[in-house]
Amino acid sequence: MTNTAIRRTGALATLLLAACAGAAGVATDTSSAGPAPSAPLPALDSARLIADLYRLADDSMAGRATGTPENAKARAWLVSEFRRIGLAPVGSGFEQPFAFVRRGASDSTRGANVLGQLRGSRVPGRVLVVSAHFDHVGTRNGEIYNGADDNASGTAAVLAMAAWFKAHPPEHTIIFALWDAEEMGLVGARHFVANPPVPLASIAANVNLDMVSRNDRGELYAAGATPYPQLRPLLEALRPRAAVTLMLGHDSGTGSENWTNQSDQGAFHAVQIPFVYFGVEDHPDYHRPTDDPSRIQPGFYYRAARTVAAFVESLDRAFSAPAP
Ligand SMILES: [Zn+2]
Repeated sequence: MTNTAIRRTGALATLLLAACAGAAGVATDTSSAGPAPSAPLPALDSARLIADLYRLADDSMAGRATGTPENAKARAWLVSEFRRIGLAPVGSGFEQPFAFVRRGASDSTRGANVLGQLRGSRVPGRVLVVSAHFDHVGTRNGEIYNGADDNASGTAAVLAMAAWFKAHPPEHTIIFALWDAEEMGLVGARHFVANPPVPLASIAANVNLDMVSRNDRGELYAAGATPYPQLRPLLEALRPRAAVTLMLGHDSGTGSENWTNQSDQGAFHAVQIPFVYFGVEDHPDYHRPTDDPSRIQPGFYYRAARTVAAFVESLDRAFSAPAP
């Protein structure tokens, strides 16, 4: 990453600030253009959402560890879904391959992100990246770590959002990105940022999902408003509409309670691209073989996915507001 790119991104963040400030002004006037607190959330396909999670977290995917045949099988299916939904490839194809050497290893490991896009109807040159990692930790000592919540849930939610936005075209380009090798250190997302298929300066924000299918208190966290306060008005406007208890936080301080660098949004934050990360607090099945589809909470999951979709929609529309 070059300093030039970072400076350009910084300038874009200022643009975003102006756009979001304008949107916030509109959103508080519930009689006009902004979404009212009662505005319906995007109606994602709930049956497909759940079925897709089950498919990704099935034993036949063997935990989707990067570099395994089962990870490649999951990836091939995701590419076929992007095609079925009607996304366009980003660059030369739907896959962005990369190789890396794991710590302590002599051979390199190969992985690939799955990327697809919907071209913006009004401002195609400005891009939102909506993402989730599809890999998990695989099989250990004969036990399959299915990674239903982590992160078949985010992956299936991205598929559902892609289908919804295909039917409700965005004004700005949306790249739907399914990262590989997150569990090995955000490798796929870092590769994307280091080798961007579109200019980094055109990327206005990253919305990343990682673990969105269960919480006993019905709480979904949105992190990012502390480092990127220009996003706070949009998130605050979403809270009364949200179908889950939308919490803001986990985005400041130095300890493990700051989730900024704990998933792929960290790669975007590293180059000062604003992010919002959606996810739940850790649960007893986190990174255990028991993170199975039977443990997710389908009702919460569907409501969480619709809430995130509503945020992406509001982000897309925020740019449309006239500058204050
Ligand atoms: Zn994860």
